[in-house]
Parts: sequence; structure tokens; C-alpha cells
Amino acid sequence: MTDIGIAENLNKVKHRIAAAGTEAGREAGSVTLVAVSKTWHAGHIRPALDAGHVTFGENRVQEAAGKWPELKADFPDTRLHLIGPLQSNKVGKAVALFNAIETVDRPKLARALAHEMDRTGSRPDCFVQVNTGEELQKAGILPKEADSFIAACRDDFGLPVKGLMCIPPMEEEPSLHFALLAKIAQRNGLSGLSMGMSHDYEIAIEFGATLVRVGTAVFGQRPPAPVRG
Ligand SMILES: *Cc1c(COP(=O)(O)O)cnc(C)c1O
Repeated sequence: MTDIGIAENLNKVKHRIAAAGTEAGREAGSVTLVAVSKTWHAGHIRPALDAGHVTFGENRVQEAAGKWPELKADFPDTRLHLIGPLQSNKVGKAVALFNAIETVDRPKLARALAHEMDRTGSRPDCFVQVNTGEELQKAGILPKEADSFIAACRDDFGLPVKGLMCIPPMEEEPSLHFALLAKIAQRNGLSGLSMGMSHDYEIAIEFGATLVRVGTAVFGQRPPAPVRG
């Protein structure tokens, strides 16, 4: 992928987001593209920054902490979203680095985030991840526990909860999951909806996504994951 290729991909995706928004009767500018740069090194991400893109997604705290400080120094307006599971012992690093944490999914983590936000005064936007497919191996609060967990995040822990996030099961029709997430958000008075990836972001926009997390369609096919010890 050349630098120009990445800028072109960004343009294409942004046009498709705008078109899907118009089609769905959404207000212009109501959908933010989170360009998912996980696994890519700084040199591969830079063309997107040079092209003026500001919002990026990473799924590992350690990896993001390695490559983003240098990029953020050159592009201080950058906004980083954590879209992967967060372990309680990485909460300090995560709160320091990320502008949004999209994967709040259990009381222990909510408590640790609240404690760290109070301690530092940094308050990244929080999204509650919902396991809409009720998949055993997947992170996220179960749909039937979502209302009480959202209430606890807001009222007990005082987290700045902006919305919900989901990753539908691979083999299922995503629209059912997007509709469920939108319904849970609506009944809890939440306006943020992080849903939709490279293969289904236009459908997600139809169902009300305010954030779409798109990696492959912007940066190209990711190299196979390295073996991690
Ligand atoms: C990797 C990832 C994405 C982006 O996936 P693509 O199919 O490459 O667009 C979106 N959301 C999450 C949570 C991811 O881990």
C-alpha cells in the first residue's frame, strides 16, 4: 500500500460514509470514521495523518503506547480510541493515552477506570461494550445485564459514558445486532453507537452508528498476527 493508496482509501471510505448517511436520512457529519491502525507501524499510519485524518483505533494498549507518542507529537489533534479488551492493570496507561475507551465491560474495570480518572483528572469518553451475540469467547456485557451495568457505570462509578459498542458474530446478519445495540442505547438515553467495520459499516450507519471502526478498507489487509509469548 502506497502513501497515496492510503489517502485514496480514506477518501473512498469517507465518501461512502457520507452517502450511506444521506441515504439513511442522517445529519451530515454525524458519523465519525475511526481508522483502525492496529498491527501497522508508525510509517504506515503517517500518510493517513498527513491526509488530515484525526481519529484512530487501536486494540492493544502496549502496542499503541509504543508507536503513538511519536505520531501524536507531530499531530497533536489526534484522537485515539481503544477498541480492544482492557486489563485492569493497564488502566493507567490507557487513561493517559486514549481519548475514548470503547470496551468497558465489567464492574472491576469500571471501578479501576473511575479510580484512575479521579486520580489523574483525565476523563476519556467511555463506551460500554455489549456482547450482542452472547458469544462465550467474546468480551462485552450480556444484553440482559446491559441496563444495570450502564446505570452502575454512570451512577456508582461516575464514568463519562457516551454510548455503546458491539462486534457482531462473524457468521450472523449484522443488522440484527446493530438494531439491538441501538435499542439498548435508546432506552438508556445514550446517543453514541460504535458499530460497523470494513465489511458492514454502511449497514451500521443505516442503523444509527455514530462511530464506524474501519481498518482493512483504509490501511489494506493486515499482515498475519505475530506470535505473542
Ligand atoms: C480490527 C477491528 C476493527 C477493524 O476491522 P476491519 O475489518 O479491518 O475493518 C474494528 N473493530 C474492532 C474491535 C477490531 O478489533
